Amino acid sequence: MPSYAFFNKQFVPLSEAKIGIMTHCLHYGTAIFEGIRGNWNSEHQQTYLFRLREHYERLHKGCRILKINLAYSIDKLCQITIELVERCGFQEDIYVRPLAYKSSQSLGVRLHDLDSDFLALIIPWGPYLDVDKAKCSVSSWRRPADNAIPPQVKITGLYANNALAKTEAIENGFDEAIMLTPDGYVSEGTGENIFLVIDGKLVTPASYNSILKGITRDTVITLAQNELGIETVERQVDRSELYTAEECFFTGTAAHVTPIAEIDHRKIGSGEIGEITRKLQKIYSEVIRGNNQKYLNWCTPVYKKSQVAEA
Ligand code: PMP
Repeated sequence: MPSYAFFNKQFVPLSEAKIGIMTHCLHYGTAIFEGIRGNWNSEHQQTYLFRLREHYERLHKGCRILKINLAYSIDKLCQITIELVERCGFQEDIYVRPLAYKSSQSLGVRLHDLDSDFLALIIPWGPYLDVDKAKCSVSSWRRPADNAIPPQVKITGLYANNALAKTEAIENGFDEAIMLTPDGYVSEGTGENIFLVIDGKLVTPASYNSILKGITRDTVITLAQNELGIETVERQVDRSELYTAEECFFTGTAAHVTPIAEIDHRKIGSGEIGEITRKLQKIYSEVIRGNNQKYLNWCTPVYKKSQVAEA
């Protein structure tokens, strides 16, 4: 199926969306990206974009930090995304990749005196961590502090840090890395936030622990409270608490809720998917697919009724 991109202020076939080799962001990592899920519901013959607005709110924050002058409001970005998904017409789970970037054909390290542009593309994408439960290692690569490179927004250049950690973990036979803060507390996975279950409560690193404040993290905190009556404590987490937690799992737009079975060759709980994790996984998967009325305000339907009837 042909895919399309939004590029240079218009919709074009993906194969025609090309950038010049002197584009600033290519050399210096001066771009902000997002990852948004479109979840296909075959019964509804519908794709639901999950928490679309919140992703663009975060993109806008990143643009402020990198002095990217984004020509589009949050409403306009949502509208562009809906139209792009509609044009592509996938009937499966998809991943939307928006990018706000320094677009000048100009070399030299800086943020000022550069043009900016916005693009978005879509790929069909199933589960990101392709395992039902992940084996992890604590990375030798630390997450940077906010005053080194802010981890609270998705700066493309920052992800060299994540890539170092991810590949180290994979080459050592693990599925994912868990990164620590500069002072040695638990931070997050390379594309996921992390939760522990301790004494029946959820515990997750706080915003000051060099994390990206994930939209899935927020979703899970809300669902745990509303649907299971389980409170989440946001606090500094010691490395050793990982080994003794009752349960542990990752959250992320791409990874959804992924249980963690093992960390540094130590089983978490029984080494099987924990009870709370399983419940949250189930609730989350219903919510993102538009199957829970209560949370439909988080789900933006893409296809118009008439198209659905033709499909
Ligand atoms: N941390 C990092 C480093 C990430 O790249 C992601 C993925 N965006 C997350 C956490 C999870 O964030 P979200 O739930 O908003 O996708």
